[in-house]
Amino acid sequence: MQASENTNDDFLFIDDSEEDELFDSAVTDTWKVLIVDDDPEIHSVTQLALSDLVVLGRHLEYIHAYSGQDACKLLEDHQDIVLVLLDVVMESDDAGLAVVKYIREQLKREDIRIVLRTGQPGYAPEESVIKDYDINDYKTKTELTRRKLVTTVYAAIRSYQQIDSVSKNRQGLEKIIGAAANLLELHTVHDYAHGVLAEMKKLVANSSGMFCARGQGIVEGADDLSLYILAQDGRTDAEVNQKLLALGDRSASQNITSCFQQKQHIITADSCSFYFVSGGFRAVIHLTLTQALSTIEMQHIEVFLTSIATGYENVHLFQKLRNAAYKDWLTELPNRLDFVNLLDKFCQSDDSELVSALIDINHFSDINDGLGQDVGNQLLMAVAARISHLSDQNQLARIGADVFGIIGPKKFVNPETLMNLFSRPFAAGEQNLPISACIGFCSKGSAGSRGLSVLNQINIALNLAKKSLHEPFAYYHQEMEDKTLWRLGMIRQLRTDFADNRLALWYQPQLSLATGKVIGAEALLRWQTVEGKFISPAVFIPLAEYSGLIIEIGNWVVEQACQQLSRLAASQFEGVSISVNVSIPQFKRDNFVDTIIEIIQRNQVDPSKLELEITENVLMDEPQVIIDALVRLKKQGISIALDDFGTGYSSLSYLQKLPLDRLKVDRSFVSDIAKKGGSIIADTIINLGQQMNLKVIAEGIENSEQEQQLKVLGCDEVQGFYYAKPMPVDDFFAFLEKVNRG
Ligand code: C2E
Ligand code: MG
Ligand code: MG
Repeated sequence: MQASENTNDDFLFIDDSEEDELFDSAVTDTWKVLIVDDDPEIHSVTQLALSDLVVLGRHLEYIHAYSGQDACKLLEDHQDIVLVLLDVVMESDDAGLAVVKYIREQLKREDIRIVLRTGQPGYAPEESVIKDYDINDYKTKTELTRRKLVTTVYAAIRSYQQIDSVSKNRQGLEKIIGAAANLLELHTVHDYAHGVLAEMKKLVANSSGMFCARGQGIVEGADDLSLYILAQDGRTDAEVNQKLLALGDRSASQNITSCFQQKQHIITADSCSFYFVSGGFRAVIHLTLTQALSTIEMQHIEVFLTSIATGYENVHLFQKLRNAAYKDWLTELPNRLDFVNLLDKFCQSDDSELVSALIDINHFSDINDGLGQDVGNQLLMAVAARISHLSDQNQLARIGADVFGIIGPKKFVNPETLMNLFSRPFAAGEQNLPISACIGFCSKGSAGSRGLSVLNQINIALNLAKKSLHEPFAYYHQEMEDKTLWRLGMIRQLRTDFADNRLALWYQPQLSLATGKVIGAEALLRWQTVEGKFISPAVFIPLAEYSGLIIEIGNWVVEQACQQLSRLAASQFEGVSISVNVSIPQFKRDNFVDTIIEIIQRNQVDPSKLELEITENVLMDEPQVIIDALVRLKKQGISIALDDFGTGYSSLSYLQKLPLDRLKVDRSFVSDIAKKGGSIIADTIINLGQQMNLKVIAEGIENSEQEQQLKVLGCDEVQGFYYAKPMPVDDFFAFLEKVNRG
């Protein structure tokens, strides 16, 4: 529509603009306004009318289009157009409306404001168009006096700005919500602090930041209430985990400190320190800025801070839970669960020099019981400290009360180096405690593929080390595991077979050399499996000892022996005794002596007819405990024999303290006794027995030459296949009848 056709051509020149904003030369930013009209004159008069206008602090800048098509093109090129003054009738009657549709539907720009202008009221668009396409204003050009134009433009731009700020707000809030979701994933305080700064950067571009809080419980070794830098963004990683006071940037450090102390934000020209707190967990986020924050940014940050404060509290609680689950409360070392994680990493590592080990402190419970838990705890701390000082490259854990786990290079984690740590005593309280340890090792080469299986492997080696009489350490090998599996299977079978009454007690007669009569019998266990196979006691007794099953089985043996003793007495064989073998674990039971006495009394048996056979090895571990028990048994009149004498390691001085009745000369000293020079040891033992006023019985006599020689040496009693093999109880009674009454 041509301007000349307008009813009032000079409408734009009427001066009614005294309320215009004044021109401000300092203003640099502009609002881009697109004037669309096929009449060039309208362009120039519009521009002239609005020439000095400053809207909300900015000038207007004009872009000109002379057709609807032109307009669409320009709108696409200039994303920052905020207002379109649009003629309705141009190349077609509704070219202007096509532009409106293009803006809203094609470009999907809801924010651009549109003022429709037309020369004649007849071309006014329908009301629904105005509503649907969010048109700010519809004016006939006659209505547009300068003043009205200014007001219209002013209102439209203001409305644009509101829409823009709402949309920025929405975007900001979306970012905050998104940030909260991202941060939800982070479970350590450090990760969280780092994540918060990353999200903060999305809200405030061009900033660099620090996340500061008290380091206690978060930064390793943080021992006071100082502020630490937990995370940084856009700065340097060297600052992380450092004390804030160590920061070169003094003014930042001061601002952060006062922010934390005064519990409020501190805003300066080029920085902000934001304070937040939740559930007593307080922190400061410090931002260094290149330009001041806008009001909207400030509002967003406030919302963001509220949301992250709760997250910060949660992440602390989570870390506490994690610590409780993965840290040893006493030494603050990783615990068993975490050691398995470390072993998992050990398995994945391709460093073939790595070794893992378990260090088990010997007799720790004695220290705990004897000197008290406090001293025990201090001892553990001292041990932990000494092992950790070995090298930074090692990883240490406490995986049981007195067991430490360690993973490290071979040069540190080896028997010599680790054993050496125990060569000096440990200070615990007032005490200086000399302690020893057993160590199981597993090198990378023989390790399994999972942490848990490696722990199992080291345990196998450790158990072996504990049982070894030679070295207090052992390396894991595959064969050990095979053996362990076999052993576990056997123990399982032994347990069920014992419960099913498949164990029997057989008796091997013992005779007097002088009279040839049976003076007693040794009770020997027999295990016949369901398949009918006999398993040697030399095989299953150690397994029963290892598993603790020997306690139950041992009590059963004594019970059986006592029942047979009362049967012997009833059959007028009251002079015949029965010996039972007793293992170390039985002695270690507090109630061992009482149990024996109880069984004897219940069966109304003469205690002197029950003999307990012990081997020298029972003295190896805790001699005094054993000697005390034997003295008590002896007081009850029970008889004690020292089995397999000469094969163990016991010292004669200990032997002297034992309340013995008999010495048993081991079979190995009997086998060669008839050969020349083969009887020296047997001779010595028999002499020793005589001098100690003990009876001497020889085991394993298989022929008459051996018997002959024993007579010469002055041995009292004998036991061996030459006389009789071990036999079921009824056979034994028959044997007795034959030999003693026959
Ligand atoms: P031990 O106490 O030294 O028992 C003597 C072993 O020598 C028995 O082996 C017996 O059968 C065997 N023996 C006896 N005379 C001869 C002989 O003339 N020639 C040969 N070659 N061997 C002879 P067994 O029954 O196999 O028992 C082995 C070991 O198992 C026993 O050695 C004992 O230490 C242990 N044991 C057996 N029963 C029990 C038990 O009830 N409790 C405990 N703790 N250990 C037991
Ligand atoms: Mg024996
Ligand atoms: Mg023996």
